[in-house]
Amino acid sequence: MLDERPAVGAAALPDGSAGTRPIHTIVIIGAGQAGGWAAQTLRSEGFTGRLVLVGEEMHPPHERPPLSKAVLSGAALPATTWLMKPDAFSALGVEWRPGTQVQRIDRTARQVLLSDGTAQPYDKLILCTGGRARQLDAPGADRVQLHTLRTIEDAQALAPTLAPGRSVVVVGGGWIGLEVAATARQQGADVVVVETQSRLCERTVPAEISDYLLALHSAQGTRVLLGTGVRGFARAEDGRSEVLLADGSVLACDTIVLGIGLVPNDELAREAGLACDGGVRVDAQCRTSDPDILAAGDVAVAPNPWAGRSLRLESWQNAQEQGMAAARSALGQAVDYQPLPWFWSDQYGMNLQIYGMPTPAHRVVQRGDAASGSFVLFYLAGDVVQAAIGPNAARVLRFARRLIEQRKPVDTERLADPATPMSKL
Ligand SMILES: Cc1cc2nc3c(=O)[nH]c(=O)nc-3n(C[C@H](O)[C@H](O)[C@H](O)COP(=O)(O)OP(=O)(O)OC[C@H]3O[C@@H](n4cnc5c(N)ncnc54)[C@H](O)[C@@H]3O)c2cc1C
Repeated sequence: MLDERPAVGAAALPDGSAGTRPIHTIVIIGAGQAGGWAAQTLRSEGFTGRLVLVGEEMHPPHERPPLSKAVLSGAALPATTWLMKPDAFSALGVEWRPGTQVQRIDRTARQVLLSDGTAQPYDKLILCTGGRARQLDAPGADRVQLHTLRTIEDAQALAPTLAPGRSVVVVGGGWIGLEVAATARQQGADVVVVETQSRLCERTVPAEISDYLLALHSAQGTRVLLGTGVRGFARAEDGRSEVLLADGSVLACDTIVLGIGLVPNDELAREAGLACDGGVRVDAQCRTSDPDILAAGDVAVAPNPWAGRSLRLESWQNAQEQGMAAARSALGQAVDYQPLPWFWSDQYGMNLQIYGMPTPAHRVVQRGDAASGSFVLFYLAGDVVQAAIGPNAARVLRFARRLIEQRKPVDTERLADPATPMSKL
């Protein structure tokens, strides 16, 4: 079944022939951040055909960062996370299917099968299925309530438990865990963070920044247990929850939050035979191994020259920019999506930003004094800045981004000197 409106795009045929196939219908799976931006971009780029946005959640496309910050603390309402005002969303003319799951992709018939029993044909399909919070399958996990934080409903369930006099154990000292810990402390709860690795955010930041985060949380009264595994959970006789640690000790608490990572929602793609490797593999045009199916956001594994390998970028920036890139690519536009990774985190009023991918091989140059609460660490190969991280240093980091993208050697003495304006570098 094809829409009768005129097709506004054309795609090269998969057999490589010079012919093109008109694009009548584009289906987006997942109405989160990447899916929302893909829909908006398809319209802003002039696609007037049928646009179907299928989303498991009941909410319109929205952003998740406030869910561990302002929404969790009650400072902002969930509706503030919506990507578009309701009028602007309706004006897109998108067939939005909330509360609907895509259950299968039939690549031969070029259609997706929905949980409401209907089939939806497509000419181009964009997978923006994101990921879900990883669960911990440990003994006793079924005897306590284990919170995770991915959705608006998760934030709404967790928020009332973060209050003065309540005790919270956060399992996992990564970004979500640390942001939940910070919000919980700010709400007056007693907080313990349990992390298996020997330092915080070990997967994503160098040791200097792990140390900085540890000092920040400790100064706020959060207990951080590093190198500590969880062997299970139990319910105490007084009804409180217990986290059983690998060293034999027990943490009694009112609330347990798991912040132990994300599982990409790539099952649909795998079952459809698309190339996957811890996520859906895409190229710099956001195309999967089927040229009529694209992917973007947390679910997509893309080549990244800044990292020197393919990886999934779990970030606000990537969800937006790759969603937009996938939309343009679906319309046959030239796309070369190879972003300089950018990530930020807000904890206790501190804003940390990261540009690029620091590695242990990089030389570190520091600008500013850690004691002042605002400094930047630059990571260099030779005299070329490859990455930069810093708390409360947004302005310096904006210049750092330019330095990284320009790939020009810098005078490292001047780089380290806060008296030298970044604009002069
Ligand atoms: C609590 C929290 C705080 C964060 N804070 C920051 C931050 O401070 N800075 C930062 O850079 N990044 C942050 N992030 C990361 C950022 O929000 C994500 O990278 C981004 O949301 C990914 O967008 P996405 O569209 O790929 O996935 P999502 O936004 O998760 O959207 C995927 C959607 O697809 C739907 N879906 C999945 N399968 C199906 C199916 N079969 N059928 C229909 N629908 C389906 C899901 O229900 C979901 O709605 C945070 C994330 C979380 C969870």
